[in-house]
Amino acid sequence: CGVFGAYSPRPEPLLEDVYLGLYALQHRGQESAGVAWINGDGMAKTVKGMGLVHDALNQHELSQQETRVAIGHVRYSTAGGSLAANAQPLVATYARGPVGIAHNGNLTNGKAIAQYLESRGAIFQSTTDTEVIIHLMAHQAHKPPLEALIGALRRLVGAYSLAVLLEDRLVAARDPWGFRPLVLGKRGDVTYIASESCALDIVGAELIRDVEPGEIVVVDEKGIRSLRIPVEPKRHFGCAFEYVYFARPDSIIDGRSVYAVRKELGRLLAKGSPCPGANLVTGMPDSGTLAAMGYAEESSIAYEKAIVRNRYVGRTFIQPTQRVRDLGVRIKLNPVPHLMEGKDVVVVDDSIVRGTTAQRIVTLMRGCGARNVHLRIASPPVRFPCYYGIDTPVSEELAAARMDIEGLERQVGACSLAYLREEDLFEAIGRGRNDVCTACFSGHYLEGKEIDHDLDL
Ligand code: 5GP
Ligand code: SF4
Ligand code: MG
Repeated sequence: CGVFGAYSPRPEPLLEDVYLGLYALQHRGQESAGVAWINGDGMAKTVKGMGLVHDALNQHELSQQETRVAIGHVRYSTAGGSLAANAQPLVATYARGPVGIAHNGNLTNGKAIAQYLESRGAIFQSTTDTEVIIHLMAHQAHKPPLEALIGALRRLVGAYSLAVLLEDRLVAARDPWGFRPLVLGKRGDVTYIASESCALDIVGAELIRDVEPGEIVVVDEKGIRSLRIPVEPKRHFGCAFEYVYFARPDSIIDGRSVYAVRKELGRLLAKGSPCPGANLVTGMPDSGTLAAMGYAEESSIAYEKAIVRNRYVGRTFIQPTQRVRDLGVRIKLNPVPHLMEGKDVVVVDDSIVRGTTAQRIVTLMRGCGARNVHLRIASPPVRFPCYYGIDTPVSEELAAARMDIEGLERQVGACSLAYLREEDLFEAIGRGRNDVCTACFSGHYLEGKEIDHDLDL
């Protein structure tokens, strides 16, 4: 998912900024989009719809509203189904006033908290884990809203990057591990929060900095304040897959350019798994393009954009059924025939999930006369599901979990298949093994002391 928020000291058409921000974050979720704001009468308002930002929301209508604080969300489901009831921001008025929450991530103790709260009488309106945050606040109605929010956050385990409306304040919060990105920006005296810096660029705002893991940033008429979520500091566990695939390349996450990381992944892949006989390198569009450029540069083999992507087809993995997924891939990618003929081609992609894309494209390339097709993957094999907010399928559906590399090579029909080494992933991101999450590659999830449930309210 993607989140966005804006705060201005005086009423402005901020909802249009939110609309634009969500538009730039569209790659983070295509199922639903929504905005929430505080009306002139102090009530929280929300507009949500299913589908893409452009279909779900009306830019013109939003631009007519003036407000001082607004948030927005684009969703792709990890916890809870693809239903209108699960569209965000979630908005409620509880004993202490209005609250709105836009959440990117996935709470690993969300179910446990929901069960606990239900046993004490809570009635949930949605099946998203985000709703537990609002209920946790409502159960602490004896505290002022900001303290209730902090009291809720300290009980959460897992991934959350939040944009929160709290009365007339804008609040940003990032879990103590920093799984998902979250940044602060500024344009004049308007302050923004966004999942990725590309959403600041679109509204002409400047990137100030990342929200730190475990940090709460409160923006109100007094300015910008930084607070900590009151838990023991955790190790940084920022998602490696954001750099590999999920984020937009023009974003900067935790100080590192996604574009630069992707090219470096390609260079290191070329060093670790060269292809000396090849005479052409190409990338699987769009996700493999930058790594392919890095691979070509490092290996001094010519680079061509030899696979064309129909830009009107959405990201195939968003489609729900296997059948639609298969059809989607066929519609989406096509090799340029004359570039294939008689060539030894290296195809670089960012990752293999179910193996559909790779198998299809190798077949098409051979059909166009490619002599040899070598597949190079700019990340380690994805063998484990993600519990922290990326919709990787269960292990049984992951090609690299079902087969060894030779089996997969045969299955996709490539002459050779090689993956990036794990240490190269750490090197490209510029962080140590204990400073970044690679659980979907390594199976090393959070454990032990990092997960303690203190639900006592
Ligand atoms: P496959 O065809 O192997 O199922 O999917 C591989 C393609 O899906 C790659 O080109 C990759 O860019 C994209 N992809 C990357 N991340 C994800 C993810 O989290 N889930 C899914 N299903 N696909 C992804
Ligand atoms: Fe990212 Fe993979 Fe960790 Fe999930 S398991 S947070 S996708 S690195
Ligand atoms: Mg792809």
